[in-house]
Amino acid sequence: MAHRVEELALAGTRTGTRRYLTVHRFGTPGARPKAYVQAGLHADEIPGMLVAHHLIGALAAADAAGTLRGEVVVVPVANPGGLAQVVAGVPVGRYALDRDGNFNRGFADLADAAEAGVRGRLGSDAESNVALIREALRAAHAGRTPRGDATEVETQRHALLGLALDADLVFDLHCDMEAVVHLYTGDALWPDAADLAAELGAEAVLLARDSGGGPFDEACSSPWWTLAERLADEGPVPPACLAATVELRGKADVDDPIAAADAAALMRVLMRRGVVAGDPGPLPALRCAATPLGGLDRVLAPAAGVVSLRKRPGDRVAAGEAVADIIDPAATDPARARTTLVARTAGILMARTNLRFAGPGDLIASIAGAEVLDARGHGLLFD
Ligand SMILES: [Zn+2]
Repeated sequence: MAHRVEELALAGTRTGTRRYLTVHRFGTPGARPKAYVQAGLHADEIPGMLVAHHLIGALAAADAAGTLRGEVVVVPVANPGGLAQVVAGVPVGRYALDRDGNFNRGFADLADAAEAGVRGRLGSDAESNVALIREALRAAHAGRTPRGDATEVETQRHALLGLALDADLVFDLHCDMEAVVHLYTGDALWPDAADLAAELGAEAVLLARDSGGGPFDEACSSPWWTLAERLADEGPVPPACLAATVELRGKADVDDPIAAADAAALMRVLMRRGVVAGDPGPLPALRCAATPLGGLDRVLAPAAGVVSLRKRPGDRVAAGEAVADIIDPAATDPARARTTLVARTAGILMARTNLRFAGPGDLIASIAGAEVLDARGHGLLFD
């Protein structure tokens, strides 16, 4: 089937306003494997939107050439309401300005409802189990259709999950502040996702079973390992949805040639996975080992001050090495104005702030290390 474009209506915000998700569809609905790609869920993270633009072009060309085997759904702007949030000239795309919080949190966990739908019905054939669970996930999702009093963001979360939840591959394109390419994905999905990491040249891969807060990728993938555990006595349940949050460098890394190369990398992943026919060529070498999300050293500002960074994204650091200074410009004694921040772990500095003044507790840098650090009181994701 030819390339189709649909508009999915979200709930209205206030009287007289309504937004839509633009959904690009390729291939025959129901064809396998199915891939789902979205960008801009954090609406001020633009690199993925340009990658989606190039990917849509490549998929349209594959469709015209008759090489599309599976189904692909692309949502290049996953959060139009967030994109409209501009305060005094500054885009605010990570959090809803009303009460809906972080746009990439609070996605529904469908595991309980899906479990109730399949308990007692699984068997020894993994493939039939996958089909039964997908059906139960769809039913669980339909059972959570937002009511009339739902907010625009609630209907957006529901609509996005509905487009992706039965996909074999889910790539949620984000970016950090200043960063090298890195991925967040599930423990159960590694090393299966190594082709994605290798093709994109990821320099860090962070693994977690439950990173907390209900991010989009885990809403798609985690029901599979939850059900695999709970229904182990009934039969095999493979992790049938490879979902990853793909961090495409920093906010300012928006560049046509880089985005075209990223889209080509994703096309090669789709080829390796049989979604698109074609020869992807040899798989590039992995640039990193996967590390636990619990091993991510979040270097925080202990006090307010000017941020002076000593390391760049991609730099390797040793435990105890200085990565940044926070300088209180108003200190009475300049000799006592400076606090040097050091790495708690050895690893790669995968991301750092793009702001140069911090408040207490602000995130300054993230270092991916191999050893799990002491447990924190909140979810593993920063906010
Ligand atoms: Zn993001």
